[in-house]
Amino acid sequence: MSDELGRQRGTLEMIASENFVPRAILEAQGSVLTNKYAEGYPGRRYYGGCEFVDVAENLAIERAKALFGADHANVQPHAGAQANVAVMTAFLNPGDKLMGLSLAHGGHLTHGMKLNHSGKFYEIAAYEVDPETGLIDMEQVREVALAEKPDMIVVGWSAYPRELDFAAFREIADEVGAILWVDMAHFAGLVAAGLHPNPVPYADVVTTTVHKTLAGPRSGLILCTEEHKKKINSAVFPGQQGGPLMHVIAAKAVAFKIAATEDFAQRQVRTVEGARIIAERLTAADVAETGVSVLTGGTDVHLILVDLRNSELDGKQAEDLLHQAGITVNRNAVPNDPRPPMVTSGLRIGTPALASRGFGDAEFRETADIIAEVLKPGADIAALSDRVAKLAADFPLYEGLEDW
Ligand code: PLP
Repeated sequence: MSDELGRQRGTLEMIASENFVPRAILEAQGSVLTNKYAEGYPGRRYYGGCEFVDVAENLAIERAKALFGADHANVQPHAGAQANVAVMTAFLNPGDKLMGLSLAHGGHLTHGMKLNHSGKFYEIAAYEVDPETGLIDMEQVREVALAEKPDMIVVGWSAYPRELDFAAFREIADEVGAILWVDMAHFAGLVAAGLHPNPVPYADVVTTTVHKTLAGPRSGLILCTEEHKKKINSAVFPGQQGGPLMHVIAAKAVAFKIAATEDFAQRQVRTVEGARIIAERLTAADVAETGVSVLTGGTDVHLILVDLRNSELDGKQAEDLLHQAGITVNRNAVPNDPRPPMVTSGLRIGTPALASRGFGDAEFRETADIIAEVLKPGADIAALSDRVAKLAADFPLYEGLEDW
């Protein structure tokens, strides 16, 4: 644990799905609430002694509802994948059809990958991004929906740099009689800050992780209309989980309170602005010359997808070089990637963790420049890693947190 704390302090964390939680969340998760069994829901538990964990869970529920304007919140899913399984089991029978963004085009495992629960138990139909623009084309989505007649459409992504048109997805779902499920795991923090359209008014059900842009504990959350409340609750418990993680639920209550503050909104503004600064730097002429480009030409959100199909570097080499310089990112397949998934021809670069660390425009400009230099042939990695170390040292992380 000491080594990991040192790594987080000394490097620049740019994995788009990661963040640094506030100390209050570390403390809630390290609290005595971890000892408590509380199967059931507040006021209706199958164990005694739940009077105080009920307070924590009710706080988390009410804050989540207020934050996103939802009728109902289930705060018990242990993670994003569990939230998604609960939604599928609530609305689908085995053999029903689920339509989602293809994994190879930025979708998530739980949206239909063949080895995942979703791909094993349901028939899958996939929509893709346009090969020219890299954008989701709503006409193509409509064509696939009309041809496939899915029972449920899932809208959301793990690697896509643009906003989604929830109203258009709602229309298509209504046209084919499908349930509309939005998985906002990546951009929920931007929604909370009012920087991204809110899917809640359009969707039957919305899932999210709490630990990405939302910067809370590693866990999941389901939001739905009053109509679906009973079905969702029973799909989580007893449908597929036993005792809820009450220490994590308390930490969710803390995260949702923080996410309603102006300070949090400003952090999301820096997050999105930082991503724009990096996208702009990586589309400049000196970078373009080396064959590196940015999918869709930019970003609306907290991440950038770098396209290395015309670069000398593949995704694995680029990830390794950035790692040597002290910047942590993940390689990522680009749509129609000619390379295998363990190598890939792309990178996914995210700004939430650095914004949480305090980075503003100036630091994101310096970070963008370091990344641009690393991706050029013959980069002086030692000199660039000195620049990374200076940035990291200027923004101390978890000051005063003792080594274990
Ligand atoms: N949904 C989306 C869109 C995701 O990107 C992720 C995680 O990357 C998940 C669900 C799953 O979340 P977890 O890793 O907490 O199970």
